[in-house]
Amino acid sequence: MEDCIFCKIANHVIESNYVYEDDLVAAFRDMNPQAPTHVLVVPKKHYANIVDDVPAETLAAMAHAVDEVAKAEGVRDSGFRVIANTGDDAGQTVHHLHWHVLGGTSLGEGLV
Ligand code: 5GP
Ligand code: ZN
Repeated sequence: MEDCIFCKIANHVIESNYVYEDDLVAAFRDMNPQAPTHVLVVPKKHYANIVDDVPAETLAAMAHAVDEVAKAEGVRDSGFRVIANTGDDAGQTVHHLHWHVLGGTSLGEGLV
């Protein structure tokens, strides 16, 4: 989608700090990290959020990317959190589906 920052980053129109990539998804570091590991997993195709009729194949690719990111960041065994802010009440600011992968420290028991 034109003028979507995550479409541009996922498809290398704008370069970023990538951690993992395959045909369907890209994973890159959040520009405002909230934890030592804070990586965004996004599909290369534009979906507004998790309830935008996302194909099962894309969701599976995103789950696989989470695993690859966790391995690459060394948080697969220690644990990490995956968050999908969806819509206004969740404070979604970028309206291109993305999963936050957070870890590298004890994340506490807030919210979830
Ligand atoms: P949301 O609140 O929509 O779930 O979070 C969007 C996230 O995207 C925020 O954590 C923000 O820091 C990150 N972000 C927004 N624009 C950019 C960008 O241009 N590059 C990167 N790497 N992260 C971004
Ligand atoms: Zn997009």
